[in-house]
Amino acid sequence: MLPYGRQTIEDDDIAAVAQALRGDFLTTGPTVEAFERAFAETVGARHAVACANGTAALHLAMLALEVGPGDAIVAPSITFLATANCARFVGAEVVFADVDPTTGLMTPQTLAEALARLDGRRLRAVLPVHLRGDAVDLPGLKALAEAAGAVLVEDAPHALGTRVNFGNEAGLVGDCAHSAMATFSFHPVKTIATGEGGMVTTNDPALAERLRRLRSHGMVRPEGADPWWYEMPEVGFNYRLPDILCALGLSQLAKLDRFAARRRALAARYETALAPLARLVRPAARPAWSDPVLHLMSVLIDFEAAGRSRRQVVETLKARGVGTQVHYIPVHTQPYYRQRYGELDLPGARAWYERCLSLPLYPGMEDADVDRVVGALAEALGV
Ligand SMILES: *Cc1c(COP(=O)(O)O)cnc(C)c1O
Repeated sequence: MLPYGRQTIEDDDIAAVAQALRGDFLTTGPTVEAFERAFAETVGARHAVACANGTAALHLAMLALEVGPGDAIVAPSITFLATANCARFVGAEVVFADVDPTTGLMTPQTLAEALARLDGRRLRAVLPVHLRGDAVDLPGLKALAEAAGAVLVEDAPHALGTRVNFGNEAGLVGDCAHSAMATFSFHPVKTIATGEGGMVTTNDPALAERLRRLRSHGMVRPEGADPWWYEMPEVGFNYRLPDILCALGLSQLAKLDRFAARRRALAARYETALAPLARLVRPAARPAWSDPVLHLMSVLIDFEAAGRSRRQVVETLKARGVGTQVHYIPVHTQPYYRQRYGELDLPGARAWYERCLSLPLYPGMEDADVDRVVGALAEALGV
């Protein structure tokens, strides 16, 4: 069975974890800082703060910005639940933005339309998602967010390694050139894996300090205080990432270039292999500024023209040993949000959801696996 995504754990990753287990610190030890420093350097940000998972990273970002009741954030409807839920963790409201139906991404147009639905709530942050690894229009979104008195927080778990070029400023997702913070996840299907794990990057030292404090109960140790002394100026959480997992993260991060190259090669092979199916299947459209390391191989399928339902196609593929997934069910249609905000029609999200399917993509795949997936897909679609 080829799953839609999976981790690549090698002997040296296992050795790195074993070494951490033999050390003096299982949780807050020197490897946490080493992983943070290496991560910040990799994405080109000044600071990186490790935390328990990508959801905790989003929650910490909301806490660090002091988002709370009476405030609102904008999140795209096509994303994982956590992008929206982090606002609810702090008592703020979510305004769902539509997406471009060909890219699945929030755009300046869909953001502007969402901002018209703020209903008097104070906008604090816009949380664009670099869906599947393709980058959103960061300068375009930033201009609108700033004009509305808010900052960008990039939810970037899909886009570790993605390069962007907006005119003459080349950069990497996570360098926070246009945002206050960017959040990452090291869930096993993401580009590097620690099991559970997350990171927040920022160029703002004050935000970095707050993130660090909030991830560990809100505690601080004032300089020059008694050796046992700690103080809690504000309440925080236990969102630490243990030393053991930071050792795995550090080992995985050292392989990012190789993982990225393999993902790029597999995606290119998919594009070639899918070309003959272009009447029914197209890879998600690529914005001009995005040079992605794809986390997901998202394709859009015209199920109606094929005369097959998505369920039939998914089940046929599964029977041929090909795992797929739908990224994502529009979050605004979840019962919780329907009940809270009522019915909302976002036609771009609806159109994306009706056609999207994620095909297997991970560094451990062989070239022949891509051909097998595309062959099975052609069969499932009856071509
Ligand atoms: C994976 C993911 C998250 C949550 O990360 P966890 O580590 O699973 O908590 C949030 N947002 C997006 C877009 C994700 O893909």
